[in-house]
Amino acid sequence: MRNKTLLLSAVLALATAAPAGAATASEAATTGTGAGAVSTAGTTTGTGAGAVSTTRTGAGAVSTAGAAHGAGLGRRILPANDGWASAGTGTTGGAAAPPANVHTVTSRSQLAAALAAPGPRIIYVKGRLDSGRTCADYATGGYTLAGYLAAYDPAVWGRDAEPSGPLEDARAASAANQTAHIKLKVPSDTTIVGLPGATIRHLNLHVDKADNVIIRNIRFEDAADCFPQWDPTDGETGNWNSLYDNISVTGSTHVWVDHNTFTDGTNPDSAQPLYFGRPYQMHDGQTDITNGSDFVTVSWNEFSGHDKTMLIGSTNNPAADSGKLSVTVHHNHFSDTLQRLPRVRFGKVHVYDNYYEVPDAATFVYAIGVGVQSQIVAENNYFRLSRAVDPAALLYDWGGTTLTARGNLLRVGGKERPIDLVGVYNAAHDPDLGTDAGWTPTLHTRIDPASTVRREVSRHAGAGHLS
Ligand code: CA
Ligand code: CA
Repeated sequence: MRNKTLLLSAVLALATAAPAGAATASEAATTGTGAGAVSTAGTTTGTGAGAVSTTRTGAGAVSTAGAAHGAGLGRRILPANDGWASAGTGTTGGAAAPPANVHTVTSRSQLAAALAAPGPRIIYVKGRLDSGRTCADYATGGYTLAGYLAAYDPAVWGRDAEPSGPLEDARAASAANQTAHIKLKVPSDTTIVGLPGATIRHLNLHVDKADNVIIRNIRFEDAADCFPQWDPTDGETGNWNSLYDNISVTGSTHVWVDHNTFTDGTNPDSAQPLYFGRPYQMHDGQTDITNGSDFVTVSWNEFSGHDKTMLIGSTNNPAADSGKLSVTVHHNHFSDTLQRLPRVRFGKVHVYDNYYEVPDAATFVYAIGVGVQSQIVAENNYFRLSRAVDPAALLYDWGGTTLTARGNLLRVGGKERPIDLVGVYNAAHDPDLGTDAGWTPTLHTRIDPASTVRREVSRHAGAGHLS
């Protein structure tokens, strides 16, 4: 009920906000005609969107060119000092796009075409974009889940080697078909922004080796892998692993992921069966930031109902990531998410003003993962736990040594109290974590007191809440 009311009011606010509404209508005026067509806003009037200032150090104000016609959501840039993505040249995405590079897309194929068109580009997502295919459409080489389960049952295959042979080959070929269809590469100087109600479903946005990308106001649903891979050598009891995140950021810089909603919709991890005694995991991350990425701000998103939520750094090998993975995570709502909120390796990561809701002790794993050489500053977050959740489980030591924590609040059974995250962790675990991550964040806008975070984040995080 709360969400419905909020969404409605946000949509109304969006629709009545004169500059955004007017520009959106103008830039969205032309729509592609047929599969793969890319619509452009060549009819945009005013002083010309092409005249938009290309400064990348602005104060987050909407660019002034075009006044009512050029100042749509697509032209907004990351505010100055708003987290690591504001470092150096800042993050403007496609704000400098000339009118011909402003697209409105209503299908996967239109989105793919717009991403491949010349940049800088602004892409408005309208309505629900889906893969348009089922898992059966990708399957090839004789792959069936029943056949795969029969071939690699530990009673048959054992537990010492990863699957190989015809059915694993068929699985890999089927997965390659799916990857080719659902993985959409996002190039440099791109803004992707949702019009009210925009949804991207069964697809993976892959920001790969790019600089300067903005993704805002989109509901992302269920980037399910149709062909999870069994690995009996992963962990003590084996694991099912899947490929796709909703958003993957690899080898990229200056990325702003803001005011999106992430959900597995009607296909939650919690509904999957156990095979070989392990959860049949069809999802990977909701927003994963890896492979030497740097200068990323993840703000005001809603992450909900998911297992592995946000991975920052995917390997303990320092070659690609040492000195990188600088990420700011602020004002996000982590709602019934089970782990990686985020999990961090190497990076100087500022985690502030996030609202964590942990309703179920049985499925919760941990919130913040303190990985190898991570330098996390966790500040003014609000943790609302059910009574059965152990506050000492909010941190998990994945090989890190230290974390700065201050100003965090815990709410259990209707009562709020400050929580010393490291102290509570250390009282229950060895070895102890240190209390100083060794740096002080300077790139941030206002840091709210934790006492206001629950209210502010509940009201304003997620898609549909931009004003
Ligand atoms: Ca991933
Ligand atoms: Ca201890």
